[in-house]
Amino acid sequence: METGLYVHVPFCIKKCNYCDFISYPYHEVDVKAYLVGLEQEMKLYSQSPVFQSREISTVYIGGGTPTCLSAFNLGKIINDVFKYFHVYTGAEVTMEANPGTVNPHLLASVQAAGVNRLSLGVQSCRDDELRLLGRIHSFRQAKETFLMAREAGLHNIGVDLISGLPGQSALEWMETLKNIIALEPDHVSAYGLQLEAGTPLYEDVQSGSLAPCSEEEELEMFLQTGDFLGEYGFDHYEISNFATPGRQCRHNLIYWHNQEYLGIGPAAHSFINGYRYANEQQILAYKNVLDAECLPVANKEKIDTVTEMAETVFLGLRLLKGLSLDCFKKRFGCAIDEVYPVPLQKLTDMGLVEIAGGYLRLTRRGLPVANRVFIEFLP
Ligand code: SF4
Repeated sequence: METGLYVHVPFCIKKCNYCDFISYPYHEVDVKAYLVGLEQEMKLYSQSPVFQSREISTVYIGGGTPTCLSAFNLGKIINDVFKYFHVYTGAEVTMEANPGTVNPHLLASVQAAGVNRLSLGVQSCRDDELRLLGRIHSFRQAKETFLMAREAGLHNIGVDLISGLPGQSALEWMETLKNIIALEPDHVSAYGLQLEAGTPLYEDVQSGSLAPCSEEEELEMFLQTGDFLGEYGFDHYEISNFATPGRQCRHNLIYWHNQEYLGIGPAAHSFINGYRYANEQQILAYKNVLDAECLPVANKEKIDTVTEMAETVFLGLRLLKGLSLDCFKKRFGCAIDEVYPVPLQKLTDMGLVEIAGGYLRLTRRGLPVANRVFIEFLP
């Protein structure tokens, strides 16, 4: 089984207006404590029998904003990953980057240290939308960053976009897609905006000062995205993800196949040997536990078979190819239609899922309402 390694870098220059991820303002003292703690955590895992024999097939350095760290500190993190874990030769090593936080030296350094895939948070090509989202960069800066990354030798670049913004029209969303295609990325992640409670955008929509995007507009943008990117040779391989040939994100495929991953850093999550772990969120708490030479795990939960089956189904259904019926049977010792006869019949009758070529998958009609489909499999 493949194992992915996720490294959480919990710092951002400024909080975006839609973001509820765990990230903290960049303060030298916290960054220093984090970096010391991160190496301590890697060292502890390298001494654990579970990881001494385990090979890492993908590494993902995400955040937060990893690129708000210096080239030196990022290089150290990457070198430590290779020092403390058995990383496959040819492993995919992704780093998230945000425009406005990178320079040619930083990109060349991380590329030389082993990063071979960049995930760039562009979000929109319209500066009015970037301001609404509270991003720190313009589209011009995003383009410059993209070209800088190519110059630095990064041949596998994905861009992240957000659709369904308050006040955004399908025409404006298309403008973003066209500008992105002109950059010739290898991968596009196009997520619909989630209004998370407590964020400024959520509050503005709640108070009526911003009108949310309607469900009809969201659906139009979703369908538009698949059709448009398809014309340019992108394979729509996951609900929100599109790749040129051979450029699917291997790290995220581990999540969608419900395989094992280790998350390190404050607030990181892991799924190892049937347990889900969540790390301490606060940097001080994270560092204090590590100083006592213990792993900084705040929560540990045994995932029972019923839950693991349900998660395997709805994560697998996120993939356009679907969930392999054979893999399900090998993993759990029973066929999927024995476990879920009622939901499968109901969703098939509604035209939302189908079984074809040994896979259970969402139909074109089921894709935009995937969340409603997933609920049917919850224990
Ligand atoms: S850069 Fe990313 S992690 Fe940081 S605040 Fe913005 S959306 Fe959140």
